[in-house]
Amino acid sequence: MQIITSIDEMRRFSRAVRAQGRTLALVPTMGALHEGHLSLAGRATDECDVAAVSIFVNPAQFTPGEDYARYPRNLECDLDLLVPRQVDAAFAPDAAQIYPPGFDTFVEPGRLAEKLEGAARPGHFRGVATVVVKLLNIVQPDVVCFGQKDFQQAVIVRHLIRDLNLDVRMAVCPVVREPDGLARSSRNAYLDAEDRPAARVLHQSLERARELAEAGEIDARLIVQEMRKTLGREPGVATDYATIVDATDLEPVERVERGSVALVAARAEAVRLIDNLILGPAGATDEDRLELVFGPALKRL
Ligand code: AMP
Repeated sequence: MQIITSIDEMRRFSRAVRAQGRTLALVPTMGALHEGHLSLAGRATDECDVAAVSIFVNPAQFTPGEDYARYPRNLECDLDLLVPRQVDAAFAPDAAQIYPPGFDTFVEPGRLAEKLEGAARPGHFRGVATVVVKLLNIVQPDVVCFGQKDFQQAVIVRHLIRDLNLDVRMAVCPVVREPDGLARSSRNAYLDAEDRPAARVLHQSLERARELAEAGEIDARLIVQEMRKTLGREPGVATDYATIVDATDLEPVERVERGSVALVAARAEAVRLIDNLILGPAGATDEDRLELVFGPALKRL
Protein backbone atom coordinates (compact mmCIF):
# COMPACT_ATOMS: atom_id res chain seq x y z
CA MET A 1 0.00 0.00 0.00
CA GLN A 2 1.26 3.43 -0.92
CA ILE A 3 1.10 6.02 1.85
CA ILE A 4 0.56 9.43 0.34
CA THR A 5 0.73 12.64 2.33
CA SER A 6 0.91 15.33 -0.34
CA ILE A 7 -1.74 16.55 -2.76
CA ASP A 8 0.74 16.48 -5.67
CA GLU A 9 1.66 12.89 -5.03
CA MET A 10 -1.99 11.90 -4.78
CA ARG A 11 -2.66 13.55 -8.13
CA ARG A 12 0.31 11.71 -9.68
CA PHE A 13 -0.95 8.39 -8.30
CA SER A 14 -4.43 8.99 -9.69
CA ARG A 15 -3.12 10.09 -13.10
CA ALA A 16 -0.97 6.96 -13.33
CA VAL A 17 -3.98 4.75 -12.55
CA ARG A 18 -6.00 6.41 -15.31
CA ALA A 19 -3.10 6.27 -17.76
CA GLN A 20 -3.05 2.50 -17.26
CA GLY A 21 -6.74 2.37 -18.13
CA ARG A 22 -7.62 1.26 -14.62
CA THR A 23 -10.47 2.53 -12.44
CA LEU A 24 -10.10 4.13 -9.02
CA ALA A 25 -12.42 4.18 -6.01
CA LEU A 26 -12.09 6.55 -3.06
CA VAL A 27 -13.30 6.07 0.51
CA PRO A 28 -13.20 9.37 2.42
CA THR A 29 -12.73 8.89 6.19
CA MET A 30 -11.57 10.76 9.26
CA GLY A 31 -9.51 7.78 10.44
CA ALA A 32 -9.85 5.89 13.74
CA LEU A 33 -10.87 3.14 11.37
CA HIS A 34 -13.23 0.34 12.33
CA GLU A 35 -15.19 -2.38 10.54
CA GLY A 36 -17.63 0.20 9.15
CA HIS A 37 -14.85 1.98 7.29
CA LEU A 38 -13.31 -1.33 6.28
CA SER A 39 -16.58 -2.47 4.70
CA LEU A 40 -16.41 0.66 2.53
CA ALA A 41 -12.82 -0.21 1.64
CA GLY A 42 -14.02 -3.69 0.65
CA ARG A 43 -16.69 -2.14 -1.54
CA ALA A 44 -14.07 0.12 -3.13
CA THR A 45 -11.91 -2.85 -4.07
CA ASP A 46 -15.00 -4.64 -5.45
CA GLU A 47 -16.07 -1.68 -7.57
CA CYS A 48 -12.76 -0.62 -9.07
CA ASP A 49 -9.29 -1.87 -9.97
CA VAL A 50 -7.59 0.42 -7.48
CA ALA A 51 -8.82 1.54 -4.05
CA ALA A 52 -7.74 4.60 -2.10
CA VAL A 53 -8.78 5.55 1.43
CA SER A 54 -8.36 9.12 2.60
CA ILE A 55 -7.71 9.77 6.26
CA PHE A 56 -8.28 13.39 7.20
CA VAL A 57 -9.88 14.82 10.33
CA ASN A 58 -11.63 17.72 8.63
CA PRO A 59 -11.62 20.78 10.90
CA ALA A 60 -14.26 22.50 8.73
CA GLN A 61 -16.99 20.03 9.69
CA PHE A 62 -16.61 20.43 13.45
CA THR A 63 -18.64 23.19 15.04
CA PRO A 64 -17.06 25.36 17.75
CA GLY A 65 -16.85 23.45 21.02
CA GLU A 66 -17.04 20.04 19.33
CA ASP A 67 -14.42 17.31 19.64
CA TYR A 68 -12.00 18.30 16.83
CA ALA A 69 -8.98 18.48 19.16
CA ARG A 70 -9.69 15.20 20.92
CA TYR A 71 -11.07 13.26 17.93
CA PRO A 72 -9.22 9.89 17.97
CA ARG A 73 -6.19 9.89 15.68
CA ASN A 74 -3.95 6.87 15.17
CA LEU A 75 -2.50 6.77 11.68
CA GLU A 76 -0.18 3.81 12.28
CA CYS A 77 -3.04 1.68 13.50
CA ASP A 78 -5.27 2.80 10.58
CA LEU A 79 -2.61 1.87 8.03
CA ASP A 80 -2.18 -1.56 9.62
CA LEU A 81 -5.92 -2.16 9.22
CA LEU A 82 -5.94 -1.15 5.55
CA VAL A 83 -3.05 -3.30 4.31
CA PRO A 84 -4.81 -6.68 4.64
CA ARG A 85 -7.89 -5.21 2.88
CA GLN A 86 -6.03 -4.81 -0.41
CA VAL A 87 -6.23 -1.03 -0.30
CA ASP A 88 -3.71 0.40 -2.76
CA ALA A 89 -3.25 3.89 -1.38
CA ALA A 90 -3.86 5.74 1.86
CA PHE A 91 -4.07 9.51 1.42
CA ALA A 92 -3.36 11.30 4.69
CA PRO A 93 -2.73 14.99 4.11
CA ASP A 94 -2.32 17.46 6.97
CA ALA A 95 -4.78 20.27 7.62
CA ALA A 96 -2.38 22.96 6.39
CA GLN A 97 -2.37 21.40 2.91
CA ILE A 98 -6.11 21.10 2.64
CA TYR A 99 -6.76 24.50 4.22
CA PRO A 100 -3.68 26.63 3.49
CA PRO A 101 -3.48 30.17 4.88
CA GLY A 102 -5.98 32.36 3.10
CA PHE A 103 -8.33 29.49 2.25
CA ASP A 104 -11.69 31.16 1.76
CA THR A 105 -13.95 29.19 -0.60
CA PHE A 106 -16.66 26.89 0.71
CA VAL A 107 -19.32 24.67 -0.82
CA GLU A 108 -22.72 25.56 0.65
CA PRO A 109 -25.26 22.74 0.51
CA GLY A 110 -28.87 23.91 0.53
CA ARG A 111 -31.92 23.17 2.62
CA LEU A 112 -31.13 19.49 3.15
CA ALA A 113 -28.20 20.64 5.26
CA GLU A 114 -30.32 22.76 7.60
CA LYS A 115 -32.31 19.96 9.18
CA LEU A 116 -31.59 17.13 11.61
CA GLU A 117 -27.78 16.98 12.00
CA GLY A 118 -27.48 20.37 10.31
CA ALA A 119 -29.80 21.93 12.89
CA ALA A 120 -27.84 20.37 15.74
CA ARG A 121 -24.45 21.16 14.18
CA PRO A 122 -24.68 24.42 12.20
CA GLY A 123 -22.11 24.58 9.42
CA HIS A 124 -21.29 20.87 9.69
CA PHE A 125 -22.46 19.95 6.19
CA ARG A 126 -20.81 23.01 4.65
CA GLY A 127 -17.55 21.60 5.99
CA VAL A 128 -18.42 18.11 4.74
CA ALA A 129 -19.42 19.35 1.27
CA THR A 130 -16.29 21.46 0.98
CA VAL A 131 -13.89 18.67 1.87
CA VAL A 132 -15.74 16.14 -0.29
CA VAL A 133 -15.45 18.38 -3.35
CA LYS A 134 -11.77 19.01 -2.58
CA LEU A 135 -11.04 15.29 -2.16
CA LEU A 136 -12.90 14.45 -5.36
CA ASN A 137 -10.94 17.12 -7.24
CA ILE A 138 -7.64 15.89 -5.86
CA VAL A 139 -8.21 12.16 -6.25
CA GLN A 140 -10.55 12.18 -9.29
CA PRO A 141 -12.01 8.76 -8.53
CA ASP A 142 -14.49 6.89 -10.72
CA VAL A 143 -16.43 5.79 -7.63
CA VAL A 144 -16.70 7.32 -4.16
CA CYS A 145 -17.96 5.21 -1.26
CA PHE A 146 -20.03 6.51 1.66
CA GLY A 147 -21.77 4.78 4.57
CA GLN A 148 -25.49 4.69 5.27
CA LYS A 149 -24.47 5.27 8.89
CA ASP A 150 -24.37 9.00 8.11
CA PHE A 151 -27.61 8.92 6.17
CA GLN A 152 -28.13 12.66 5.82
CA GLN A 153 -24.53 13.08 4.69
CA ALA A 154 -25.05 10.45 1.97
CA VAL A 155 -28.20 12.23 0.76
CA ILE A 156 -26.46 15.61 0.72
CA VAL A 157 -23.41 14.26 -1.11
CA ARG A 158 -25.64 12.60 -3.69
CA HIS A 159 -27.33 15.97 -4.25
CA LEU A 160 -23.97 17.72 -4.42
CA ILE A 161 -22.69 15.32 -7.07
CA ARG A 162 -25.80 15.93 -9.12
CA ASP A 163 -26.06 19.69 -8.62
CA LEU A 164 -22.40 20.36 -9.39
CA ASN A 165 -22.16 17.78 -12.23
CA LEU A 166 -19.32 15.97 -10.52
CA ASP A 167 -18.04 13.15 -12.68
CA VAL A 168 -18.13 10.36 -10.11
CA ARG A 169 -20.47 7.54 -9.19
CA MET A 170 -21.49 7.08 -5.57
CA ALA A 171 -21.76 3.78 -3.70
CA VAL A 172 -23.61 3.71 -0.37
CA CYS A 173 -22.84 0.83 2.00
CA PRO A 174 -25.00 -0.60 4.82
CA VAL A 175 -24.46 0.25 8.49
CA VAL A 176 -21.98 -2.09 10.17
CA ARG A 177 -22.97 -2.82 13.77
CA GLU A 178 -21.56 -4.25 16.98
CA PRO A 179 -23.00 -7.64 17.96
CA ASP A 180 -25.56 -5.89 20.20
CA GLY A 181 -26.72 -3.65 17.36
CA LEU A 182 -24.86 -0.43 18.21
CA ALA A 183 -23.70 1.17 14.95
CA ARG A 184 -19.91 1.16 14.72
CA SER A 185 -18.49 4.65 15.11
CA SER A 186 -15.15 6.19 15.91
CA ARG A 187 -16.94 8.13 18.65
CA ASN A 188 -18.03 4.90 20.40
CA ALA A 189 -14.54 5.00 21.93
CA TYR A 190 -15.79 7.91 24.08
CA LEU A 191 -18.50 5.75 25.69
CA ASP A 192 -17.61 4.63 29.22
CA ALA A 193 -18.58 1.28 30.74
CA GLU A 194 -21.86 2.72 32.03
CA ASP A 195 -22.98 4.47 28.83
CA ARG A 196 -21.99 1.71 26.45
CA PRO A 197 -24.87 -0.71 27.24
CA ALA A 198 -27.36 2.20 27.36
CA ALA A 199 -26.34 3.25 23.84
CA ARG A 200 -28.05 0.12 22.48
CA VAL A 201 -31.43 1.84 22.76
CA LEU A 202 -30.78 3.78 19.56
CA HIS A 203 -30.72 0.59 17.55
CA GLN A 204 -33.54 -0.90 19.61
CA SER A 205 -35.75 2.10 18.83
CA LEU A 206 -35.10 1.61 15.10
CA GLU A 207 -35.87 -2.10 15.39
CA ARG A 208 -39.16 -1.19 17.06
CA ALA A 209 -39.96 1.06 14.09
CA ARG A 210 -39.06 -1.75 11.71
CA GLU A 211 -41.25 -4.22 13.61
CA LEU A 212 -44.27 -1.91 13.51
CA ALA A 213 -43.81 -0.91 9.87
CA GLU A 214 -43.38 -4.52 8.80
CA ALA A 215 -46.54 -5.44 10.71
CA GLY A 216 -48.39 -2.94 8.50
CA GLU A 217 -48.43 0.21 10.66
CA ILE A 218 -48.31 3.28 8.46
CA ASP A 219 -48.97 6.06 10.97
CA ALA A 220 -45.57 7.69 11.36
CA ARG A 221 -46.59 9.60 14.49
CA LEU A 222 -47.50 6.40 16.26
CA ILE A 223 -44.26 4.67 15.23
CA VAL A 224 -42.19 7.67 16.33
CA GLN A 225 -44.01 7.60 19.70
CA GLU A 226 -42.95 3.98 20.12
CA MET A 227 -39.38 4.84 19.12
CA ARG A 228 -39.30 7.55 21.78
CA LYS A 229 -40.70 5.13 24.35
CA THR A 230 -37.85 2.72 23.62
CA LEU A 231 -35.28 5.52 23.82
CA GLY A 232 -36.85 6.62 27.12
CA ARG A 233 -36.03 3.27 28.72
CA GLU A 234 -32.49 4.55 29.33
CA PRO A 235 -32.52 7.61 31.57
CA GLY A 236 -28.85 8.27 30.72
CA VAL A 237 -29.70 8.70 27.04
CA ALA A 238 -31.17 12.07 26.00
CA THR A 239 -32.97 12.01 22.67
CA ASP A 240 -32.12 14.82 20.30
CA TYR A 241 -34.47 13.67 17.55
CA ALA A 242 -36.41 10.57 16.58
CA THR A 243 -38.24 10.89 13.31
CA ILE A 244 -39.34 9.21 10.11
CA VAL A 245 -38.56 11.14 6.96
CA ASP A 246 -38.90 11.02 3.22
CA ALA A 247 -35.49 10.01 1.88
CA THR A 248 -35.48 12.66 -0.83
CA ASP A 249 -36.29 15.86 1.05
CA LEU A 250 -35.66 14.61 4.61
CA GLU A 251 -39.04 16.05 5.69
CA PRO A 252 -41.05 14.10 8.27
CA VAL A 253 -43.74 11.91 6.72
CA GLU A 254 -47.24 11.27 8.00
CA ARG A 255 -47.64 7.92 6.30
CA VAL A 256 -44.78 5.49 6.29
CA GLU A 257 -43.89 4.03 2.92
CA ARG A 258 -41.23 1.71 1.60
CA GLY A 259 -38.06 3.75 1.52
CA SER A 260 -39.10 6.07 4.37
CA VAL A 261 -36.20 6.41 6.80
CA ALA A 262 -36.26 6.27 10.59
CA LEU A 263 -33.53 8.44 12.07
CA VAL A 264 -32.38 8.91 15.66
CA ALA A 265 -29.84 11.12 17.37
CA ALA A 266 -29.20 11.00 21.09
CA ARG A 267 -26.63 11.81 23.71
CA ALA A 268 -25.31 9.16 26.06
CA GLU A 269 -23.83 11.54 28.64
CA ALA A 270 -21.56 13.76 26.54
CA VAL A 271 -21.36 11.45 23.52
CA ARG A 272 -23.63 12.25 20.57
CA LEU A 273 -24.72 9.18 18.62
CA ILE A 274 -26.74 8.82 15.42
CA ASP A 275 -28.33 5.86 13.70
CA ASN A 276 -30.94 5.14 11.04
CA LEU A 277 -32.92 2.43 9.33
CA ILE A 278 -34.52 2.38 5.90
CA LEU A 279 -38.01 0.93 6.23
CA GLY A 280 -38.73 -1.71 3.62
CA PRO A 281 -40.70 -4.87 3.13
CA ALA A 282 -40.26 -7.67 5.67
CA GLY A 283 -37.27 -9.81 4.83
CA ALA A 284 -35.57 -7.15 2.69
CA THR A 285 -31.79 -7.14 2.97
CA ASP A 286 -29.82 -4.00 3.83
CA GLU A 287 -28.85 -3.77 0.16
CA ASP A 288 -32.51 -4.01 -0.92
CA ARG A 289 -33.34 -1.18 1.46
CA LEU A 290 -30.47 0.96 0.19
CA GLU A 291 -31.68 0.37 -3.33
CA LEU A 292 -35.11 1.78 -2.38
CA VAL A 293 -33.41 5.09 -1.57
CA PHE A 294 -30.27 5.33 -3.66
CA GLY A 295 -31.22 3.24 -6.68
CA PRO A 296 -29.57 0.10 -8.00
CA ALA A 297 -26.15 -0.80 -6.62
CA LEU A 298 -23.23 0.03 -8.86
CA LYS A 299 -21.80 -2.68 -11.03
CA ARG A 300 -18.06 -3.11 -11.47
CA LEU A 301 -16.93 -1.11 -14.49
P1 AMP B 1 -16.05 9.06 9.26
O1 AMP B 1 -14.64 8.60 9.43
O2 AMP B 1 -16.86 8.97 10.51
O3 AMP B 1 -16.15 10.40 8.57
O4 AMP B 1 -16.73 8.03 8.27
C1 AMP B 1 -16.22 7.80 7.00
C2 AMP B 1 -17.21 7.00 6.19
O5 AMP B 1 -17.45 5.75 6.84
C3 AMP B 1 -18.57 7.71 6.06
O6 AMP B 1 -19.06 7.53 4.74
C4 AMP B 1 -19.40 6.98 7.08
O7 AMP B 1 -20.79 6.99 6.79
C5 AMP B 1 -18.84 5.57 6.98
N1 AMP B 1 -19.13 4.83 8.21
C6 AMP B 1 -18.87 5.22 9.48
N2 AMP B 1 -19.35 4.30 10.35
C7 AMP B 1 -19.94 3.34 9.61
C8 AMP B 1 -20.64 2.13 9.93
N3 AMP B 1 -20.85 1.73 11.17
N4 AMP B 1 -21.11 1.39 8.90
C9 AMP B 1 -20.94 1.78 7.62
N5 AMP B 1 -20.29 2.90 7.26
C10 AMP B 1 -19.80 3.67 8.24
